Amino acid sequence: MTPVEIRDVYVRLETDLLVVGDSIVTDRHHASNGNYEDDDPQNQIGGIIPAFPLSGWLRHGMERVVQEYGRTACHPGEANANFRMADVYDRDLESGYHEKGACVDDSNGDDGCVILDLFGGFHNRPGKVMRRPIRFTPVRNSVDYTRGQAEGHYRRLNRNVVSRNPEDGRDPLRNTELDAVANFDGAWHLSFRERKPEFVGLLIEAVDFLDTHRTEFMHQLGGARNFGAGIVDCDLINPLYEERELKRVFDRAKGSTNAMDEKDEQWIETYRPVFIEALEDRIAEGS
Ligand SMILES: [Zn+2]
Repeated sequence: MTPVEIRDVYVRLETDLLVVGDSIVTDRHHASNGNYEDDDPQNQIGGIIPAFPLSGWLRHGMERVVQEYGRTACHPGEANANFRMADVYDRDLESGYHEKGACVDDSNGDDGCVILDLFGGFHNRPGKVMRRPIRFTPVRNSVDYTRGQAEGHYRRLNRNVVSRNPEDGRDPLRNTELDAVANFDGAWHLSFRERKPEFVGLLIEAVDFLDTHRTEFMHQLGGARNFGAGIVDCDLINPLYEERELKRVFDRAKGSTNAMDEKDEQWIETYRPVFIEALEDRIAEGS
């Protein structure tokens, strides 16, 4: 196996609490039958986490890796977009970003910088890494990790906002509800549409970066980050693993096999450095 043959990778994501606003898609209507109480702990239902927040989180990690190499990253927003605060865009350009697409020399064919290459942009050009949504379910033995699924519980969090006036006796002024997923553990499936070793190199370094910086506000995932949601332990699952080995990673009753340990050693000593070197080469080329 040569490094360029890696097409599908899985990133393990573990978090106690994830809030992605109103964009969690749940299948609660199947269980409700008209009697659904969304704060009843007996209602253990699954759903889907869309790819948008996951993609933004990963992209930000990748941008930071590029910046740590002393390069600028592609800005995620169009330069000609009608930003409410134009000075924010300009400020970003002074602190580690170049204008989106400024890295493309000619409009036909050039790939631009590695971030633009991966995430796509102009003229409906698709990004070369496909980011999938993650389906989650509370029923562990129905989770198919090889299809990029996760174990997790949907929860609706209710908060009462109360009056601070003593004469109101803490009467609730209003009630707010948050969609959340608790006890989340699963595999995020990413596929490279085009296989370039530097893509894998950047993914390796970004996942390491995001794991190390997981408690930093800027690198938490989703919403309610001030309240500790979105602190994600993440880890690139060894791409050398076969399907049954990938499943074993999530099996609390079983440890890794000798074969898996050998593959881990191979990955770290033989494969990983090749991908990192490819990334360094591409960044040294100036893109
Ligand atoms: Zn760029």
